[in-house]
Amino acid sequence: MEISSIINSLNDAQRIAVSSPPQSLLVLAGAGSGKTRVLVHRIAWHIQVDGVSPHNILAVTFTNKAATEMRGRIEELLNISARSMWIGTFHGLAHRLLRRHAKQAKLPESFQVMDSDDQLRLIKRLIRNLNLDEAKWPPKQVQWFINAQKDEGIRARHMVETGDFFQRQMVAIYKAYEEICERSGLVDFAELLLRAHELLRDNEDVLEFYQRRFRFVHVDEFQDTNTIQYAWLRLLTEGRDNLFVVGDDDQSIYGWRGAKIENIYNFQQHYPNHKVVRLEQNYRSTGHILKAANSLIANNDGRMGKELWTDSGDGELISLYTAFNEQDEAYFVVEKIRQWVNDGGMRSDVAILYRSNAQSRQFEEKLMSTGTPYRVYGGLRFFERMEIKNALAYLRLISNRHDDASFERVVNTPARGIGAKTIEDIRLLARGQGISLWQAALDSIAHGQLSARATNALKGFMNLVAQLEQDAEEQELFEKVKWVVEKSGLIELYKKEKGDKGEARVENLEELVNAARMFDYEEDNEENLSELDMFLAHAALEAGEMQGDAYEDCVQLMTLHSAKGLEFKLVFLVGMEEGLFPSQQSLEDPGRLEEERRLCYVGITRAMEHLYLTHAESRRLYGKENYPRQSRFIREIPVEYIQEIRMRANVSRLVTSSVATVSSLQTGTFKLGQRVRHAKFGEGVVLQMEGEGAQERVQINFHDVGLKWLMLSYAKLEVL
Ligand code: ATP
Ligand code: MG
Repeated sequence: MEISSIINSLNDAQRIAVSSPPQSLLVLAGAGSGKTRVLVHRIAWHIQVDGVSPHNILAVTFTNKAATEMRGRIEELLNISARSMWIGTFHGLAHRLLRRHAKQAKLPESFQVMDSDDQLRLIKRLIRNLNLDEAKWPPKQVQWFINAQKDEGIRARHMVETGDFFQRQMVAIYKAYEEICERSGLVDFAELLLRAHELLRDNEDVLEFYQRRFRFVHVDEFQDTNTIQYAWLRLLTEGRDNLFVVGDDDQSIYGWRGAKIENIYNFQQHYPNHKVVRLEQNYRSTGHILKAANSLIANNDGRMGKELWTDSGDGELISLYTAFNEQDEAYFVVEKIRQWVNDGGMRSDVAILYRSNAQSRQFEEKLMSTGTPYRVYGGLRFFERMEIKNALAYLRLISNRHDDASFERVVNTPARGIGAKTIEDIRLLARGQGISLWQAALDSIAHGQLSARATNALKGFMNLVAQLEQDAEEQELFEKVKWVVEKSGLIELYKKEKGDKGEARVENLEELVNAARMFDYEEDNEENLSELDMFLAHAALEAGEMQGDAYEDCVQLMTLHSAKGLEFKLVFLVGMEEGLFPSQQSLEDPGRLEEERRLCYVGITRAMEHLYLTHAESRRLYGKENYPRQSRFIREIPVEYIQEIRMRANVSRLVTSSVATVSSLQTGTFKLGQRVRHAKFGEGVVLQMEGEGAQERVQINFHDVGLKWLMLSYAKLEVL
């Protein structure tokens, strides 16, 4: 492989970054300017030109998907296997370290990773155990508190008593939480990072080993590292000038989760010999999209200041669509996608980006009803679904009996006559003795402390787990999973559940078996993990990649946060409304508002060729009807880059296909003064009409409830 092939496809600034002599380097540049590309090429350069072994490379990226892609790109560039290279997310790499050095990290070999949902359940249970009132100590808030401390590297024992009752109680909960995790061998996401940091900090031999091993350390999306992540990077690169980071202060969107833009400044101080490279050409988006992004972000203060340009021409204007309500918004988007696919576009080039997970449902429903394959990233991930978690809990217990969270989850699922009272007794015993629930259950059986019925039921459960372990010993991973799903009675349970839900759950369990079959086990993994343990860790750390059929061409749905670093030809930025995006909580806080604006900048700059902004005049969200104003972010984009879309033509097509069926009336059958009946509001008289097609609205004076504007296509009015 020639050096030229590594450098040829780069511009001058990118070349400088890729080929500079080994030293610390900061690439500070806006979206789509090739930062990630530079990072990949830099690694290739080290291997090809500096003769560095892939074994000596560490690269941290933001998602598993990005890591896989990065590995693929390096392998392609160099035509070598990059297996021995450590590429992953902070969490993934921390997990790897902890597995390899569990003992030095003071963890049991069989420790299990909890995702945030597991963590929340554990905290709920803990609050109950401590006899605290959930209303006063909301589990979510406690979870947030604990994670925020960990992200700053603070353990309960480090916390100084301020005398403040609230703080004292929080610290007490934090402490109890640490104890229960310790005892159960459970590690939450924030703990992965903190532990990995402590491991290096407190074990000189381990630290030296990795400092020597990782001759070159690379970080993508550096602006979103938090305190503990940065501290971890510093340990690894201490006294060496080998940290290569790329980032964009304008895309810092995890401040609410402890990320520190300041790390960009810290880097410049801590690595005094570093070089800074700025990239200014954007290769991703056409001109109007890029200019819109530039104008929007100019509204933020205190930026490091960069302006992007492109030579790819102005391209299309940005389209703006005002929907009546969230359903109309979803119709519009799905209709546009239908046209795109009709015109030969790939579904995987299309992304629907939203601010909050709750928004996905509308789009999912419309996509489903039109038979359009789609995949949702984030949100309720595949591995977070109840039935999947239940199956995984059995698998976890097979691997580690002291996993309390899993014990609680399935001890009576499917129901086997173990009542709340029995479980409470076991909990009490476990708490009193500082032992795991499993051990407590064993002890209570041994000491005859439970009723005969409870004892039998409990024995049944524990024997089942032991039996499953025995049966599974010789089986392949997918056979194990299949066996567990069947023998545990879970499949039976969901088959009995009525309706689509049960069916979907059964399908999901089958998909889990499938996921196990497709699971790519590295037998010679450096951590000596069993295939099952590796699969379980994967399930906790994975972020949506396994969902659905990974190879099907599908529309991508995700939050703006998870869209970071990605690009799509056609992008819909939906729900552009005050109170939704920017979010309600950010409206009062200038700092958070700026973070929302950066998030919008991220969203706009995902688009390569076509960008749609949509908002609704009325929106039902979290069970409440709202009449939001258009997002200020729309107004911050100069009008010359925007075209408003009127859906007349398009919607009337939609009306005939899907909306007309819900309307009992044809357009034009109304007169002013017409008497009508509505299912909920009763009888009334038509006073005004406006709009056309699916957008046609009528104002009615109802005898009982007074004036209302209704959309004809949804209102199901009956003419009297
Ligand atoms: P983000 O800030 O969104 O993470 P980025 O700065 O990491 O963006 P990349 O994803 O690396 O940008 O690059 C954006 C797009 O531009 C990619 O499709 C990439 O292949 C392309 N690109 C980058 N540099 C060049 C170049 N010199 N020539 C051609 N294409 C390029
Ligand atoms: Mg990038």
